Amino acid sequence: MPAEQKQITFDDVMEVAKTYIHRKENLALIERAAKFAEEKHEGQFRKSGDPYFVHVLNVAYILATLHVGPTTIAAGFLHDVVEDTDVTKEDVISLFGEEIAELVDSVTKIGALKFHDKEDPEYQAANHRKLFIAMAKDVRVILIKLADRLHNMRTLQFKPVESQQRIAAETLDIYAPIAHRLGISAIKNELEDLSFLYLQREEYYRIAHLVEAKKAERDASVQQMIADISALLKEHGIEFRIFGRSKHLYSIYHKMAVRQKRFDEILDLLAIRIITKTELNCYEILGYIHAQYRPIPGRLKDYIAVPKSNMYQSLHTTIIGDEGRIFEVQIRTEEMDEIAERGVAAHWRYKEGSGYDARVEQKEIEDRLSWFRDFAAYTGENENESASEYMATLQRDVFEANVYVMTPKGRVIDLPNGATPIDFAYRIHTDVGHTTVGAIVNDAMVPLNTELHTGDVVQIKTMKNTGPSEDWLKFVKTNQAKNKIRAYLAKKESDKKEEKVPQGEKALAEELRKRGFEANEYMEKKKLEGILSQFSVTNINDLYYNIATKKVHASQVVEKLTNQKRPLNNDEITRMINRDAKKHTASKGGIVIPGIESMKMSLAQCCLPVYGDEICGYITKGEGVKVHRKDCPNILKQKERLIDVEWEGEDSERLYDSDLVVYAHDRNFLLTDIVTVVSQCKAPMIQVSATVNQETLTSTIKMKIQVHNKEQLRTIIANLRKVDSVLSIERESN
Ligand code: MN
Repeated sequence: MPAEQKQITFDDVMEVAKTYIHRKENLALIERAAKFAEEKHEGQFRKSGDPYFVHVLNVAYILATLHVGPTTIAAGFLHDVVEDTDVTKEDVISLFGEEIAELVDSVTKIGALKFHDKEDPEYQAANHRKLFIAMAKDVRVILIKLADRLHNMRTLQFKPVESQQRIAAETLDIYAPIAHRLGISAIKNELEDLSFLYLQREEYYRIAHLVEAKKAERDASVQQMIADISALLKEHGIEFRIFGRSKHLYSIYHKMAVRQKRFDEILDLLAIRIITKTELNCYEILGYIHAQYRPIPGRLKDYIAVPKSNMYQSLHTTIIGDEGRIFEVQIRTEEMDEIAERGVAAHWRYKEGSGYDARVEQKEIEDRLSWFRDFAAYTGENENESASEYMATLQRDVFEANVYVMTPKGRVIDLPNGATPIDFAYRIHTDVGHTTVGAIVNDAMVPLNTELHTGDVVQIKTMKNTGPSEDWLKFVKTNQAKNKIRAYLAKKESDKKEEKVPQGEKALAEELRKRGFEANEYMEKKKLEGILSQFSVTNINDLYYNIATKKVHASQVVEKLTNQKRPLNNDEITRMINRDAKKHTASKGGIVIPGIESMKMSLAQCCLPVYGDEICGYITKGEGVKVHRKDCPNILKQKERLIDVEWEGEDSERLYDSDLVVYAHDRNFLLTDIVTVVSQCKAPMIQVSATVNQETLTSTIKMKIQVHNKEQLRTIIANLRKVDSVLSIERESN
């Protein structure tokens, strides 16, 4: 178990703060924030039984030891008031100003993230770290979060075992590496050791025991070396501090596990650190030590001349002591030491001057931030990766190209800039993408083409039996979504085709039957394949599909299959029929006028009565009697000249002209079919003409046929009505 923690009081915080914060108003701000937090958290208790305020007090204390500014310490005191009490962001703004409110707000938002999700199979710590940094935006937020996490880890024993595991894993994956990137080795080491304890308790105690067993012996050696070096340096009149340092347990474990080193190899290295005043002193000290002790070749590292990418500076050397023990010696200035221990916090170090100006501080914050970003960019996970390569990648990944959004359960999804809820949905699951009907971003319904931003919580509404829209392709950003949508649409098209193919097949069979061909015979595979190229298709299904979708008319296919000639067009049929028209002559009508013997009579050309029609006579001036149908519109108003007439009796040889008008949807073979019906009814056709209305695609066919009687005409009309696409038939009256 780590050592018992000292109870921190408000006075402790102020004591540390006062070492570098001197202005009254700044100290007053910290005090005001502390009082406010204490008041608001009153009555709340931690799992440990401590008042909740103890937690924020500790967070503020850790921040003070990092030498952060008064606003950050104040924000540290306030970091949980919005989340855990009835205080709102607006309250914090009005009491403590925008800047502190923003810090608290960011800390609260990051606190809502669940970084470690066991149910997330794609869990990637690296991604979550990027999310963390991207969301924090301000390094001070990260510092508060690290202080918060450190105190929570120190008091983790009060949490249930399951929470301990989750929080410790998250700390090791997310928080410790961030502390490392920021160069805050003190916090990083403590977070690692605490996580190690909860995650691998046995290993932790095994190593702790090994370290403890050799401690006395090692301590004695280190103390001896310290005494020797101290004497040496005093001889030369150099100012210095010297102390031994111990490696933390997790780093020993890590070196053993990852670098495959033996325990004694690691532990036999004794470590000493010397802090002095100036850079020159550092080199002087190194010279004196090397003059006295044999250095191990190749182990001298000059990080003063060439600082590490995280600005770490120090001289490192390894020497062999009197009893053959090996010592690692680090030599650096106070300033370098502060950077090594506090990292970014040291750069951030609060400066109070006479010329304090909020704008200047803001500018400094921005400079720090860009420094931090560069810093973050240069501190690659992989030390072999070139700095510029890493920077380019990170720049692209974190700050330019990516947005990090979350599921309502806190799973992090990274997407390219400009990505929409549809991209998000397809990243979750293809089926979710396909059935998306709505999106809720941060509790508000939004259009599906809404651009997502880092930190957005996205929820997708789905509905069964819906599918992606082609429009989505216009705004989705990820190739994944594009490909899935395209694949879906293509599949839908082919499914539709599968439905249409049998329809086309049926239509062709019907067309063949209608023309008196045996469908089975003509729809043989070989016969069909023989005509495919004439319809620009490569397989029978495509042909059927084209028939069903009216790209090809079944009659055209029938023509090819049966080697029929091209159908005559309307003009040709008209000409052919009319050529023979002169052969036919109108016969005399066998009509009598009751009571009158001989009277010149003829059938009216306007309504062309046929035997059996109800008729009446019209007395003309000089042309005798014209016989009309009783309903002929031409005689309806001529009552005084009308005279009753009767059919004399049927003459089976006699033919009567009749005009018919057929209205139909235009199609191929329409006229042929009509002519066929008329001829099947044994009625000569003596004239025909057809016109097509191109707008309605309806056809008007006028024909003059000859029939024996009304009964025959009625049969012809009935049969014509059965012709496919015929709408109506009228006897014409001119
Ligand atoms: Mn907290």
